[in-house]
This record gives sequence, C-alpha cells and structure tokens, in this order.
Amino acid sequence: MAEPISFSTPDPTVRELLATHPQLTLDVQCGLMMEGVPLSAIADEVGTPCWVMSAGTLRARAQRLSGAMMQAGLSVSSHFAVKANDHLAILKILAKAGLGADVVSAGELLRARRAGIPASRIVFSGVGKTEAELRLALAEGIAQVNVESAEELEILSALAVECRREMTVLLRVNPDVDAGTHAKITTGVAGNKFGVPWDEALALYRHAAGLPGIRAAGYAMHIGSQILAAAPFRAAYARLAALVRATREAGLAVSAVDCGGGLGICYRDEGEGSPDVWAGVIRAELGDLDVRLAIEPGRWIAAPAGVLLSTVVLRKAVTGEAPFIVLDAAMNDLLRPSLYDAWHGIVPLSPRDAVAAAETATIVGPVCESGDTFAQERVLPRLERGARVAVLDTGAYGAVMSSTYNARPLAAEVLVDGGRWSVIRPRQSVEALWAGETIPDWIKHPA
Ligand SMILES: *Cc1c(COP(=O)(O)O)cnc(C)c1O
Repeated sequence: MAEPISFSTPDPTVRELLATHPQLTLDVQCGLMMEGVPLSAIADEVGTPCWVMSAGTLRARAQRLSGAMMQAGLSVSSHFAVKANDHLAILKILAKAGLGADVVSAGELLRARRAGIPASRIVFSGVGKTEAELRLALAEGIAQVNVESAEELEILSALAVECRREMTVLLRVNPDVDAGTHAKITTGVAGNKFGVPWDEALALYRHAAGLPGIRAAGYAMHIGSQILAAAPFRAAYARLAALVRATREAGLAVSAVDCGGGLGICYRDEGEGSPDVWAGVIRAELGDLDVRLAIEPGRWIAAPAGVLLSTVVLRKAVTGEAPFIVLDAAMNDLLRPSLYDAWHGIVPLSPRDAVAAAETATIVGPVCESGDTFAQERVLPRLERGARVAVLDTGAYGAVMSSTYNARPLAAEVLVDGGRWSVIRPRQSVEALWAGETIPDWIKHPA
C-alpha cells in the first residue's frame, strides 16, 4: 500500500472546512446544505453516489473572476475549460454568465455548441487534434485554434486551404516554468508534451505567418493546474511578453495572447488562488502589449461548486490500525485521489454525525484496487454504517473523469439552484452498461 502523504498541518475539522467553503452551511436541524437545500434530502430521493452542483456558486465564481479582471482594468475574454466539467447544464449556466469555451476534443466542441456557446467564443487546445477534429473546427468556424507543434501547423494550413477557410492560430509555447504543482498536472516545463519549445517559438511563428489558410495572431500558454502563488504566472507571462516584443521587433504582427488557466482552489488549508492577484499579474506583465487577452479557467470556477454524496457501506476494523470506512463511491466515480493523491474534504451530511467525536480512519471505495482510497488515515468525525458524507470540491475533474470500472454505473448528477434542485443526469442503469455490446454469432452458436 502507498505511504500516506504527510501534511505539516493537522487535518482541518468540519468547522474549519466549512469556513473555507462558504458555499456550504451546516444547519443544526437539516445538516449540510447547499444553497438552502439539505443535501440529505437529495441523497434520500436520488440515492448515492450522487454528484451535486450549485448553479449559484458557479455564477458567483464566474462573476468574481471577470470582476477581478475588470477591476484590474483589463478586457479579457474568458473561455471555460470544458474538460473540467462538460455537463450541458453547467456549460449553459457559464455561457449565460458570459464565458466562452476552451475545448480539447471534437466531443467537447460539439458539447459546447450544443449548450449554445457560439463558435465565435470557442478556442481549441490540445496536443493531438486529429484531422477530423481540425476539419470540424474549420467547418464550425470557431474563434481560434491553439497550435502545439510545427506538424500540427502544416496539417491545419493544408486543411484550411482545402476547406477554403481561414483559421486564427495562436502558438502555444512552453515557457519552461515550473508551476510548483503536482507532476501529473504540470504542463509548462521543458520535456513535457505540451506546447512549442520556448526557443523555437519565434521561428515557427514567422513560418506560420507565411502559411496559407491560417492567420497567426499570437501566443497561448497554459503552465499547469492548481496554481496558488503569483510567481509561476509572473515568470511565465514575463516570458510571453518578451516573446511578443521579440516577434514584433522581427516585423510580425501580434494581436492576441491567451494566458491559459490553472488558478487553484483551497481543498485543504492551502488557501485559494486569488483572482485579483492573477488579474494583477496579467495586468503587470501583459497589460501594455495592446493585444486581445484571454484566459481559460476551469478548476477555480467549477471545483468548489460541486460535492459527491456517498454512503458508508460498512466499517472494517483492523487490529492495531485505523479502521477502514468503505463508501459506496469509488475511484471510478472520483479518480483524483487515486490519480493525483488529491486531498478532498469529507463532511458528514447529518447534523449529528458532523459533531461526532473525531477518530482517525482510512476512507476507501469498494473497487478492487488498493489505489481506491479517498483518504489515508484522515481525522474526521466517527462514521457509522449508513452514515452519509459529502466529498467536497468535486465540481471540476470529478464526474468527467468517471468510468464504469467494476461494472459500476455512472452516478446520478443533480443541480441545485437557489432552493430548487433537479436531477440533470439520472443514475445510469446496469443494463445501459452492456447496451452496445454484441456477442458474435460464431461464439453464441458454434457450428
Ligand atoms: C486544463 C486546461 C485548462 C484549465 O485548467 P484549470 O487548472 O482547470 O484552470 C486551461 N487551458 C488548457 C489548455 C488546459 O489544458
């Protein structure tokens, strides 16, 4: 088994978690609530595991972010990173809040269109866009493609000429800046697969400017995710600004800079990435360039808007060690703890459970993998069989990463909005798991 990840601070208590998660409240009668709706009422009706998203939190955070940009005197277009949460209702809420979309596949592009996001507000990122995906981008007439390699540039140019279209292109550069985040979500250091190497960017941009079918408009960057400090952004954007200046000195026009996403949230006690600080850094490093600015936030907007509800299947005692609390949610639902060693707060739904005496327990799912662990030796209120909990901050990189491993149907999804709530995707049926599968005749009826 993996060594428990150690933190220098004790696990936050329920009270401390609620202080850093004001979108949730604990009512003495109704227990844990989201926008005035008791989460246990949703669990009663819909069952668990179940994702719950708060529309109000999404709107508030989208506004907070655009407000910070405006306060800094910036005109920035915001493209929500659809990979963080691609549910149509979520995309619709964010579209109405004024966000466009940053997509990384044909599926995401079509989802964004389906949710009513105009093509003119869609940018396409990603290191391996297929020919079919680039054709779709051209046919839809999306705003821009962020190109990640010389090879992709040639392919896109040829396809654009063939389709008699012109596509706006930003070159995604790899600034070789360590975002100081988890290795699996760092994208801006030399040697990882993202972007054009720093010292090749200008030559490639010059080449792009001469290619038919594309309009080289500027540069894009995305250095990683869950970034809490200003320094990595500042270092990366300073390099970006230098590149823009060098490009102009070489006689080439630059009209757009895409700053990427990556602003982090407070999962445990790390504090939340500040939109004001981010906006200030963009202003300081890129504000004087006279370019169209864009950002691609994902996690910061969506993660705190969601929880995953789950029920304790049983407690399993282990002599001399912390007991296992086995939940009915698992790594197939929420992958982040297994994939990134991510820490997610776990809060009981019932007001009584929330104030139970604390114990140290290891919280796991029922999937047949040791990695199916939500929390190693976590201090939290004692949870009995049947107790229900909310796993916090699952609104981004939660439901989108689910699988049906162990033939576990996809969990239900619920949207809460100012006292109302509605199932926005019913729990998948077990039959649906094999609906597309066939057994060839020669296997069913051997001659
Ligand atoms: C994932 C991603 C984002 C969003 O990152 P967050 O950390 O969720 O803000 C933005 N841009 C690109 C290119 C991405 O791959």
